[in-house]
Amino acid sequence: MIFKVFSNLDDSVILFVCRTYLCALYVPQPQALVLLQEALTTRISPFHRLLVLRPRDRPNASPHRETSPSPCRQLLSLFVITNLGALVLYLLFGTLSYYFIFDHELKKHPQFLEVGVRREIAYALRSLPWISVPTVALFFAEVRGYSKLYDNIEDSPYGWSGVFLSMLSFLFFTDMGIYWIHRALHHKLLYKRFHKPHHLWKIATPFASHAFHPVDGFMQSLPYHIYPFLFPLHKVTYLGLYIFVNVWTISIHDGDYRVPRLLRHVINGSAHHTDHHLYFDYNYGQYFTLWDKIGGSYKSPTAFEGQGPHDYLRKLREKGLGVPNGPPAAKTE
Ligand SMILES: [Zn+2]
Ligand SMILES: [Zn+2]
Repeated sequence: MIFKVFSNLDDSVILFVCRTYLCALYVPQPQALVLLQEALTTRISPFHRLLVLRPRDRPNASPHRETSPSPCRQLLSLFVITNLGALVLYLLFGTLSYYFIFDHELKKHPQFLEVGVRREIAYALRSLPWISVPTVALFFAEVRGYSKLYDNIEDSPYGWSGVFLSMLSFLFFTDMGIYWIHRALHHKLLYKRFHKPHHLWKIATPFASHAFHPVDGFMQSLPYHIYPFLFPLHKVTYLGLYIFVNVWTISIHDGDYRVPRLLRHVINGSAHHTDHHLYFDYNYGQYFTLWDKIGGSYKSPTAFEGQGPHDYLRKLREKGLGVPNGPPAAKTE
C-alpha cells in the first residue's frame, strides 16, 4: 500500500523536499545555497520548475508536461510529505525530549494523568492528518508560486541581512499571531469545542506538544503559513524555521524550566507554558512574553518563585507525605 502511494508521488515535489532537507541538514548553509542555485540552473527541470516562484512571470517556460505537474499528484505528494515530516518531527524530537530532557519525577505529581503519555501520543497521531489537510492547501499555493517565497539570496530585498531580518520578523509575526489566536481559543465560544482537549494535561510531557483538536492545531499554525504570503522569505530559511517552531513547541512542554536569568521574563519557556496548563488564563505566548505583557496576561512562572511542580513534589517529600489531591491554586479548566 505504502509503495503504491509512493509510486504515485510527484517526482518534482519529492526532489524539492529531499534536496532542500538534505541541503538544510547535512551541508553548511552557504554550500546548501550554492547547491540549490546549481540545481536551479542545471537540467533538473522538475526541480527547477518547482522552485520557480511565479511561473506566470516566466513566459519562456517549457510547455511540456513537466512544466505543469498534475495538481492531483502534487497535492497527493504534499499530503504524504507533510504527514511524514510532521510525524518524524513529532516522534523523533518528542521521544528525544521525553527520554533525555523531560524530568520523569514529574510523573509523580498528583495532576499527572496515569495514561497521560499514551493519550497525548494517540490524540496527536489522530489529529495530525486532519491538520495537514488545510495545511497542504496552503503548501500547494506556495508550490504553485502564489507566495513570496524566493530561492536565491539575490532575490532577497536586502541580501543576507534581509534573510536574517526575515527570521526575526517571522518569529515576531508568528509570536504575535499565535498569542491572539491562542487567546481567542480560550474564549468560551471556542474553548470547550476546540482548545479544551489540549488542556486535559495539567502536567504535560513533550508528547502533548502536538496533541490538539485539528481546528485548534491548524488555527495556531496559521501565522506560520500566512507569513510567506505577506512577506518575502527564503525557502531554506522557511524550512529551517518550520523545523524550529516544531522543536520549540515540544520544548515548552518538556518540564525543563531553565532559562538564562536575564531572559527569564523575556523568553516564554517551559516554566511559563506549564503555568498556562496549570492556571489557564496566563502566558498564552509562544517564544516571547512580549504579548502577554501587552495583553495583561503575563504571570511570572511559579517555578521561578519556588512554587512550581518540582517544588511541590520536593515539599511533599520533605513532609514525608503521600500523594494528595493536587496544588490548591491550580484551576481545573
Ligand atoms: Zn491554552
Ligand atoms: Zn501546551
